[in-house]
Amino acid sequence: MDRYAVIGHPIAHSQSPFIHHLFAEQTQQTLSYERILSPLDDFKGSLACLWREGGKGCNVTVPFKTEAFELADELTERARLAGAVNTLQLLPDGRVLGDNTDGAGLVRDLKRLGIELGGKRILLLGAGGAARGALGPLLAEQTAEIVVANRTSSKAVQLGEQFAHLGQVRGCGFNEITGSFDTIINSTSASLQGKMPAIPAMACRSDTQVYDMMYGKEETVFLAWARNLGVQSRFDGLGMLVSQAAESFYLWRGVLPRVTPVLSALRAKMELPST
Ligand code: NDP
Repeated sequence: MDRYAVIGHPIAHSQSPFIHHLFAEQTQQTLSYERILSPLDDFKGSLACLWREGGKGCNVTVPFKTEAFELADELTERARLAGAVNTLQLLPDGRVLGDNTDGAGLVRDLKRLGIELGGKRILLLGAGGAARGALGPLLAEQTAEIVVANRTSSKAVQLGEQFAHLGQVRGCGFNEITGSFDTIINSTSASLQGKMPAIPAMACRSDTQVYDMMYGKEETVFLAWARNLGVQSRFDGLGMLVSQAAESFYLWRGVLPRVTPVLSALRAKMELPST
């Protein structure tokens, strides 16, 4: 049986085995998928062990995405742009391919939700790994302009400069945001701390669509902020989680599973409200 896994530290909370088992059932594939808790100082050893024991591929999560990027023998273009790898595949010649499906998962989920990107003005909050992974796939959708705003403005400016060859994008601090946006995507980890990025309310109109990469039982502070401004279209990041997994599954198995039924099952399992 082909073997897959998710490697991280911590890992007990990971929903990836549940998601991939449902994908396998849906597409009638036979495979196993497990969680691997890697020692913080031996991701390389955990990976070598997986390959030795017949592993065909794995997902990589916190805190090993940069190390996976460095260890991969080959990289997809989107992984190279993201500077991080969340999916590894053992190639037939024994080399290891690194991919990053986070950004593609985000874009797929935005489309599933009916959020148009082409010709739109987008505000991306945060300039960490998730923002870096999202920028390439977002710009590929022919957005009119992406403003990346971050608490540490220098990081956003740097990201803007790095991606400027792919489209209209610039970075700034929260207090330098001007005008309003068609879509606002929160890729900061502020929601994890119950905090709201300090952005001006005028950035958000009542017809702005807002998306928080974070998900949880309680409404995030960011989504509550948007609700208080009268925004109707508010979404959490659970669909991104399932969609990035679907992209990994496609890389490994050559078949793209349907996201919606798995997302519904996951929402029910985690007892999360629908957004
Ligand atoms: P990083 O640690 O790489 O980056 C964190 C970012 O959040 C930085 O830009 C940081 O700003 C900002 N930040 C942290 N605290 C605050 C605060 N109190 N106020 C304002 N900004 C803040 O994390 P990632 O980019 O990897 O992940 C970010 C979020 O995205 C997490 O919540 C994660 O769970 C989520 N995520 C969801 C996915 C999904 O599938 N749904 C996939 C990937 C990520 P600064 O530079 O100033 O420190």
